[in-house]
Amino acid sequence: MPICWLLSVEGNHKPIRLPHLQAVVLGRGPETTIKDKKCSRQQVELQAECNKGYVKVKQLGLNPTSIDSVAVGKGNVVKMKPGQQLRIVNRLYQYTLEFKEDPSGLHGATKKQRQPTSEDKDSHTESQSMKAAKQTDRVSVPVSHREATKTSEQVGHWNQGLKASMQDPQMQVYKDDVVVVIKDKYPKARYHWLVLPWQTISSLKALRDEHCGLVKHMQRVADQMIQQCPDVNLLRFRKGYHAIPSMSHVHLHVISQDFDSPCLKTKKHWNSFTTGYFIESHDIIQMLETNGEVTVKEGIIELLKQRLSCHMCPTELATIPSLKEHLKSHFP
Ligand code: AMP
Ligand code: ZN
Repeated sequence: MPICWLLSVEGNHKPIRLPHLQAVVLGRGPETTIKDKKCSRQQVELQAECNKGYVKVKQLGLNPTSIDSVAVGKGNVVKMKPGQQLRIVNRLYQYTLEFKEDPSGLHGATKKQRQPTSEDKDSHTESQSMKAAKQTDRVSVPVSHREATKTSEQVGHWNQGLKASMQDPQMQVYKDDVVVVIKDKYPKARYHWLVLPWQTISSLKALRDEHCGLVKHMQRVADQMIQQCPDVNLLRFRKGYHAIPSMSHVHLHVISQDFDSPCLKTKKHWNSFTTGYFIESHDIIQMLETNGEVTVKEGIIELLKQRLSCHMCPTELATIPSLKEHLKSHFP
């Protein structure tokens, strides 16, 4: 199946990939480089149908989006084909479409060969059949106009998995106009959520001072998640980022400190949440406020090889099973 690209006619930025059947929300922000306040941060929702060769364009923002010279209208959905021009707002910011054959062949509907998944690749190796650790049910929070779009399509590379999960209503536990919270697919504790911005930001490295407000909002939502947790008074929580994430799309981990989960299986898993490899959300905010960017210490990856040591007391453990046994004393 071809891959769909959205091209800025003015060449303001690199082409934006529109994955098959996934809602991509665009508007004012670093991804489009649009700074015009008349353009909403969520101005349009684009959903490519790569097998059919068109993109469904939904206008979310107040000000007019048009395709060629026809206004879409707020809340309306109009099909756009290659050759047509999308103007994101007020007849400005022109875009065209391009459907290109996928050289990797990964996105073909007939491709049967199994591709590596995040399960195989990242530091979070666990079995699909593994039961998820206890997680709360969905939180009923008023949902904005933005409708999540179901996707069963393989998004591509394993490290893109969060992009599919964040669009999957089954994974979402909260959403607003700015962020979505999903259950971690391989939770490393009784409660483990990921807070992701709708805006595409690949990683901590891409964060700049203009993202301060966003990152603070992510932290506020994380606090909200913790507060609504039925075990809030029994467990401790931390919220932070992995210094070197394995998955693309910036995500804030909100994780209870029991680490009582069958998905926590390796020293790497343990050390990624209990050493300086896990960077507190407020430290990220502070870095952004003072330096306008996030920097991680050189050699930080070495922390993942550290000996297993309890995060609650000075005990050192030789193996993951003995660590898990020990943790029961802290979290019966
Ligand atoms: P990291 O990139 O190291 O900060 O962590 C990525 C997190 O995403 C890990 O905790 C994984 O368990 C989790 N994860 C991996 N794949 C998915 C997925 N498709 N959906 C939701 N969570 C995922
Ligand atoms: Zn201990």
